[in-house]
Amino acid sequence: MKDFTIDTKCVQGGYTPGNGEPRQVPIIQSTTFKYNTSEDMGKLFDLEATGYFYTRLQNPTNDYVANKIRELEGGSAAMLTSSGQAANFFALFNICECGSHIVASSQIYGGTFNLIAVTMKKMGIDVTFVAPDATDSELDAAFKENTRAVFGETIANPSLAVLDIERFANAAHRHGVPLIVDNTFPTPVNCRPIEFGADIVTHSTTKYIDGHGTSVGGAIVDSGKFDWMANKEKFPGLCLPDDSYHGIVYAEKFGKEGAFITKCTAQLMRDFGSIQSPQHAFYINLGLESLHLRMARHVENGLAVAKFLESHPQVNFVNYPGLENDKYHNLAKKYFPNGGCGVVSFELKGGREAASKFMKALKIFAIETHVADARSCCLNPATATHRQMTDEQLEACGISAGLIRLSCGLENKEDLINDIKNALEASK
Ligand SMILES: *Cc1c(COP(=O)(O)O)cnc(C)c1O
Repeated sequence: MKDFTIDTKCVQGGYTPGNGEPRQVPIIQSTTFKYNTSEDMGKLFDLEATGYFYTRLQNPTNDYVANKIRELEGGSAAMLTSSGQAANFFALFNICECGSHIVASSQIYGGTFNLIAVTMKKMGIDVTFVAPDATDSELDAAFKENTRAVFGETIANPSLAVLDIERFANAAHRHGVPLIVDNTFPTPVNCRPIEFGADIVTHSTTKYIDGHGTSVGGAIVDSGKFDWMANKEKFPGLCLPDDSYHGIVYAEKFGKEGAFITKCTAQLMRDFGSIQSPQHAFYINLGLESLHLRMARHVENGLAVAKFLESHPQVNFVNYPGLENDKYHNLAKKYFPNGGCGVVSFELKGGREAASKFMKALKIFAIETHVADARSCCLNPATATHRQMTDEQLEACGISAGLIRLSCGLENKEDLINDIKNALEASK
């Protein structure tokens, strides 16, 4: 599939049936796999042969779909996880341990912020948050001797800040550690962070990749470019013998291309068990088959809605990197020239009360804790996810009471604009 365009990879990547085999990716709904001799199975347990033995570690359906996402991102190896949360945790914990430190962009998904700032902290892993627009010297100052990874989101959920991937990758590499990028919002159709120096890419496939609100899921893709052995002292888990696999050294046995994902599967998936179900992997693949068509429509609708809101007298400001006046427009042009995604946020005049009236009056946009679906949806953080906070606390984390996040779906853009127009009128 290497020589084909992204469109063809979306449709046909990952799985090539042999003579007389199923045309569609088969759902291998089996927890276990049969072998003729215990020697055959023993080789799998020793990582001496590749194959399947138990679905908690690997399943063929999951691997076909992971392989498609790998081809789309241009990586060397990939795996699916049960959720985006599991993907980000595994990607970080595969190279961090008690006593490690992470440098992370401060503008990231709330769930990931909590994972890093609270839960991983309890495991003895420390973090320094940096603004996505931090200068090179501010970035350099965030690193410590025990820093093991840099983390950010291509387009941040929900702030829509754009990560300067190349600059963050250069900073990470100056300090001998990889850059991990959560590429959920643009998807590989609109941005491929590996082309700009990212080492590991993660996804919440729950969002645009599924795209139909059917299945929670995640994915991790390795670029195969980071030289673990050149920074041996930082990554003992990859560069020293693994006692739970008879002393295998992942970076030696599987090389730069295979070490990260093999260790992540063999250790973390084995021990934590956050595997995707083959049935869900099948749904995710149906989403991938039309991703290139859907992303173009999400972008078209997002831009049309953002432009409409930008000139409306009841709107204070709009965040959408595709708008020429947006703070991140130049980065957006560099990293995703065909547009980013269909999520737009804006501040309504009149705060909480106006926001609540506006949302109640919408007919197409449904109130949901979700984004990146075929059906348009909306959320007012002040009255939903951030309900417990006072207006002062909200301001402190960059969310005003009147801020509304819209996720523009695949409907007709004129219908979406009319829906918003009517609801704005009703919110006066
Ligand atoms: C939703 C989301 C996640 C978490 O994914 P789940 O599949 O809900 O666990 C992580 N990162 C980003 C950018 C997200 O939007």
